Amino acid sequence: MNYSKLGKTEIAVSRLCFGTLTIGPLQARLSLEKGASLLVEAFERGINFFDTAETYHNYDYLRTAFKGMNPKPVVATKSYAYKASTMEQSLSRALKDMALEAVDIFLLHEQESENTIKGHFEALEYLIRAKEKGYVRAVGISCHTVAAVEAALNFPEIEIIHPLVNIRGIGIRDGTPKQMLEVIRKAAGKNIGIYAMKPLGGGHLIQQAEDAFQFLLSHNFIHSVAVGMQSREELLFNRAVFSGEPVPEELKTGLKHKPRRVVVEDWCKGCGECTHHCPQGALTVKEHKAYVDKRLCIFCGYCGLYCEDICIKIY
Ligand code: SF4
Ligand code: SF4
Repeated sequence: MNYSKLGKTEIAVSRLCFGTLTIGPLQARLSLEKGASLLVEAFERGINFFDTAETYHNYDYLRTAFKGMNPKPVVATKSYAYKASTMEQSLSRALKDMALEAVDIFLLHEQESENTIKGHFEALEYLIRAKEKGYVRAVGISCHTVAAVEAALNFPEIEIIHPLVNIRGIGIRDGTPKQMLEVIRKAAGKNIGIYAMKPLGGGHLIQQAEDAFQFLLSHNFIHSVAVGMQSREELLFNRAVFSGEPVPEELKTGLKHKPRRVVVEDWCKGCGECTHHCPQGALTVKEHKAYVDKRLCIFCGYCGLYCEDICIKIY
């Protein structure tokens, strides 16, 4: 496994980051024991970087996996908070629920533009004060837009960017992969740490996973890539590609036959609440039931957060 330093921070991370959204209640719903074991195995195999978020509701898995480890792996989390008071709650929750003395990387979740960053600036300032006190090591943003990466360059406080980018640009809301890569390169040139998300477009690129990973790995200014994993087979496959090792044929075959899917359960009442929260505009209500446009969905799982009847699931 190769390791990189994230921009001007002193944080050294594996180029393969474990995206943990996939193990928890919004996606695979692994048991606590099974999910934590997968995280421990990833760590033992050289992955020292784990990405989560407050809305993933999976802090228990990280706490259980990393209990007693010293030093612990690098953990990045995110919050939608835009006020100091709510960011304080988010940070307290992260520290307590993951039993951490400090959060390595704390991001403003899903920023879109200069305006959204300005709108969350009070929360960012809170994180910077927390950093001065030693509760956070680095701060930044996550985003699905070229505009947000460009805007982040105007905020010297931002040390880390977690942008969506992949070979086909699936999920980039305002541009092409080329445009996203150009602005990411610019950010890295300013010593901002970059860890990419959705290298497989949420599962759409699974048939060409090796090429999709190599595409991102070929850009040295992408310091790490967060990949969602749900199983030991996915872990072994991804680790092999990221380590430049040959991938066993049985792993390739197994994963190619495991496409991701979003299921809307029969008890959906068609209230439409989820449609307001899909970042891809993939959800509509048709004939009194939520309908997912599979061409647009990137399996982010955010819609599931807003359905009080737990009708939307990702497998
Ligand atoms: S999936 Fe849930 S939130 Fe979406 S329309 Fe159905 S009941 Fe409403
Ligand atoms: S339908 Fe759900 S899983 Fe798909 S992109 Fe929209 S919010 Fe994400």
